[in-house]
Amino acid sequence: MTTSPDLAAASRGLYIGGEWRAASGGGQINVVDPSSEAVLASVPDATLTDATAAIEAAAKAAPGWRNMAPRKRSEILRRCFELMTERAETLATLISLENGKALRDARGEVAYAAEFFRWNAEEAVRITGEFGTAPAGTNRIIVDYQPIGICLMITPWNFPAAMATRKIAPALAAGCTVILKPASETPLTAYALAAIYQEAGVPPGVVNVLTTTSPGPLTAAILADPRVRKLSFTGSTGVGRALLAEASKHVISCAMELGGNAPFIVFDDADLDAALDGAMVAKMRNAGEACTAANRLYVQSGIHDAFVSGLARRMEALQVGPGAEAQTECGPMITRKAVDKIERLVADAIAKGAKVVTGAARPNRTGFFYPPTVLSNASDSAEMAVEEIFGPVAPIYRFEDESEVIARANNTEYGLAAYIFTRDLSRGMRVAGAVEAGMIGLNRGLVSDPAAPFGGVKQSGLGREGGQHHGIAEFMEAKYIATSF
Ligand code: NAP
Repeated sequence: MTTSPDLAAASRGLYIGGEWRAASGGGQINVVDPSSEAVLASVPDATLTDATAAIEAAAKAAPGWRNMAPRKRSEILRRCFELMTERAETLATLISLENGKALRDARGEVAYAAEFFRWNAEEAVRITGEFGTAPAGTNRIIVDYQPIGICLMITPWNFPAAMATRKIAPALAAGCTVILKPASETPLTAYALAAIYQEAGVPPGVVNVLTTTSPGPLTAAILADPRVRKLSFTGSTGVGRALLAEASKHVISCAMELGGNAPFIVFDDADLDAALDGAMVAKMRNAGEACTAANRLYVQSGIHDAFVSGLARRMEALQVGPGAEAQTECGPMITRKAVDKIERLVADAIAKGAKVVTGAARPNRTGFFYPPTVLSNASDSAEMAVEEIFGPVAPIYRFEDESEVIARANNTEYGLAAYIFTRDLSRGMRVAGAVEAGMIGLNRGLVSDPAAPFGGVKQSGLGREGGQHHGIAEFMEAKYIATSF
């Protein structure tokens, strides 16, 4: 079986009402391979007319989907999981081509993305309500959970499959219909997945996908339609704030998965190899282009020098190259602009006292590459202590004691993920309790798991995705019935 993705099929049109169609205005968006800077394909540029068609399609499909037997919905979701798993290699290659991430990371993403369908196939038949007696004894309280309605989903380019399925699978399990707007840089994966949903038996109009270069106006128009009841967004905190303001005009329920600035804390008593393994995963998964990426590495004085040299050795050993080539371990960044930002942050850190241990020199080659980089002696006043680096740069900050590192870790507007390495479990639990983050990796560099609630505190977001009931609860409303029997 071929694992070459069918680029023509993945760019055949907007997916609305179970049909592939051109954009009403005839516009196209080029999709660029970040490894070669070549245009891979082009996809339609949707207009307001197309957005209206998507709302109509989602509204038409809604009664049939919400009233379908949960077991039947569950089986369709299970089939989505099976088809994604069968075609994992092709999907991974497509992700590597349009996003640039190394194939091994893309394979991991496909497995993670598919798992949301398996997990939510299981959840779809376990949506229960509540029943009780009112404290006054006068009546009964019945609570039923109903699908919230049409959901608008907006996703980023860094996990083009998983950020979509983490929303679509629970929404479908809950009985909702969906309009997905994927990132302009990586739309091909979203369309390839739409073809899989279609083949798995998801009825026309239940999932609609449209790409656009006018996300603001289209989003505003979709949110203004009273049939749309949910906005589920994953992306930057800045865009998230603007969308919250837009949604507030119509009092629409919002789930926001936003940016991060994860601290990665290594205490003197940590297992050095485990901490280095964890750092490589937390920093270098997706070449650092992850919201959960370790953005500030705090290392205690006693283990500091060994950690710095160990991390530099591992970073230097990474194979940098085009994402879709088998030996690549660190692919390019998504755009030239992303590399420019990393270069600016590194220059600022060096100007504020950081020492280059390895990397930091932009290569002279085609593609949006930046080398794996380790900086020591990083300063809390550096811009990269405040901003997401979103690249393969590990700044190391020295610290002396526990209370100091907790204060420094919490000195950020973000609160998505944090990592703690120590052999002392009581310290680990104490620090995990004190660090302001929605997710903690305790002696682990990876927190993402479809079975666990993913999400942040502070300006990293609102709500949770995945987990035993959290993810699906975002797509349901409680209906309370008071009855006197
Ligand atoms: P972004 O610029 O915020 O874009 C995210 C999505 O929003 C894209 O589909 C984008 O469309 C769309 N968008 C942009 N402006 C919009 C507007 N005015 N109205 C409606 N939609 C708009 O973020 P990104 O650069 O793609 O992704 C990186 C960010 O996502 C980082 O901050 C990262 O931390 C965050 N992230 C968070 C999580 C999480 O789970 N918390 C996971 C992954 C990524 P276009 O592509 O067409 O501009």
